[in-house]
Amino acid sequence: MTQESDHGRMAATQGSRIDAYVDRYAARATGMVASEIRALFAVASRPEVVSLAGGMPYVTALPLDVVGELVSDLVARRGPVALQYGSGQGDPHLREQICEVMRLEGIDAGPDDVVVTVGSQQALDLITRIFIDPGDVVLAEGPSYVGALGTFSAYQAKVVHVAMDNEGIVPESLAQTIYALKAAGSRIKFLYTVPTFQNPAGVTLSVARRRQVLEICQRAGVLIIEDNPYGLLGFDGEPMRALRADNADGVVYLGSFSKTLAPGFRVGWALAPHAIREKLVLAMESAVLSHSSFTQLAVGQYLATQPWREQIKTFRELYRERRDALLDALEALMPAECTWTRPKGGFFVWASLPEGLDSKAILPRAVAERVAFVPGTGFFTDGGGARHMRLSYCYPEPERIREGVRRLARVIEQEMQLRDTFGTGYAPDHGGVDTPGPDIA
Ligand code: PMP
Repeated sequence: MTQESDHGRMAATQGSRIDAYVDRYAARATGMVASEIRALFAVASRPEVVSLAGGMPYVTALPLDVVGELVSDLVARRGPVALQYGSGQGDPHLREQICEVMRLEGIDAGPDDVVVTVGSQQALDLITRIFIDPGDVVLAEGPSYVGALGTFSAYQAKVVHVAMDNEGIVPESLAQTIYALKAAGSRIKFLYTVPTFQNPAGVTLSVARRRQVLEICQRAGVLIIEDNPYGLLGFDGEPMRALRADNADGVVYLGSFSKTLAPGFRVGWALAPHAIREKLVLAMESAVLSHSSFTQLAVGQYLATQPWREQIKTFRELYRERRDALLDALEALMPAECTWTRPKGGFFVWASLPEGLDSKAILPRAVAERVAFVPGTGFFTDGGGARHMRLSYCYPEPERIREGVRRLARVIEQEMQLRDTFGTGYAPDHGGVDTPGPDIA
């Protein structure tokens, strides 16, 4: 051991940020860096801060006493099964129930093609693990879900963003990007998309574009990873038809109970064409042997005995009220130069700041004014997003949302005054926000 690394290790044990192992990590670990949201979480969760940052479902709206009884009943009646190892693919009965849930989005699939995963986040990890060699290309919306970008980076994928607007991915941009990448000899492994109530933009791929995206990818031989945790949380009308409903061979569908029930169960799934499903099960077994039998059976019991469709309706109404509170407050209070999306479901609004403002630079001041958001740059891998921010409305009460927007609007107005006084690129330095904490996305 060198003197330098000895010193580094001592420093590490004394709480310093020097990492004594930095020259020993695998190359892929260099891509593992804390997301913008992670750095924010500890600050944003202080009670005096209105957090429009994290995407935490409002689990308080669940009948917690009923869930409690269900869990204790499960241990009493089926303890020896619930507390035992399970299969790598997941509980067969739960997989059947998952097929019933997916039918609400037009998907006709059998339980044999479903793999239960530790949230859809693990499904993302497993898919990336089985498809990506370092340098392979993943296409993703710009902006894209920060947790997926973290996974792609951990496997050394090269993410290429595809333009999106208020109707989701722009098909022309998708076709052109695929064409250019192929001409340059790049290996495109898949398109990762959140077509419905996207995280972070809140937009939904239109019906016409769904057809076009499917067609373009099918023609180009590009697999689609459809990540759809918010699909049943629409505020008007029936759920959108999933991409997977119209192409069983070219789409891997990822689902989750995190937003329709609770993320604490950590139950999600992948629905995949048969060959991919087999690889997923092997990857799952090497990762965790088997998912928790306990939480799978608890979710299964919940679906079998509780009015889960009604509960989803309750969530939808609650989130609709919060969405309205956020949009009304933005309309009433934000400076005229700001714009934002108008989500029809899900958790997020994507806001654009006036020319010359930088959301990351503004964040420390916003936190000092007791409001938090996520700066847009975390949702891009190419440096985009500086003038944007993600605002989530899922967790705070409507009155808190209004107060949060009041504070945010004040900060933005002050920043605009600075910009007008000192010109664009005034790069205000309000200090850093770098308190580490658990990641939430
Ligand atoms: N995909 C998207 C688009 C998400 O927003 C999230 C959670 N925020 C996930 C996947 C992961 O969710 P989970 O692992 O809890 O199912």
